[in-house]
Amino acid sequence: MSGTDTPSLMTAAWRGFRRICPRCGQANLFSAYLKPVGTCPVCATDYSGIEAEDGPAWLTVLSLGPFLVPLAFGVAVSGWPAVITYPVLAVAITGAVLLLLPRMKGLFLAVLWVSRRGPPIKSEGDG
Ligand SMILES: [Zn+2]
Repeated sequence: MSGTDTPSLMTAAWRGFRRICPRCGQANLFSAYLKPVGTCPVCATDYSGIEAEDGPAWLTVLSLGPFLVPLAFGVAVSGWPAVITYPVLAVAITGAVLLLLPRMKGLFLAVLWVSRRGPPIKSEGDG
């Protein structure tokens, strides 16, 4: 790979979802759980100016809600002992969120990188 190629939106989004560099697909996009690398060590793409803000959290909730709400409702009306089912449900929901959140952040960063959205541009008259 030349390192100067720009992948398609879908390719970059899939790479971001897998938490690897949207551009080269060879290096990790995160240096910690939710901390993106400043610059890709393989292709030197700068991700430092891209801020995902609350988007990944909203996307995680919107993605999991259609599955977890019926599950929680089903457990609640099942008649199973709440002392067992509620902690199991809480661990399952928390685990699903913790698994999906960094993937959604990677996807979000990739889409923002493809769209070339950087930090807001301040004009002289702002303020
Ligand atoms: Zn890269």
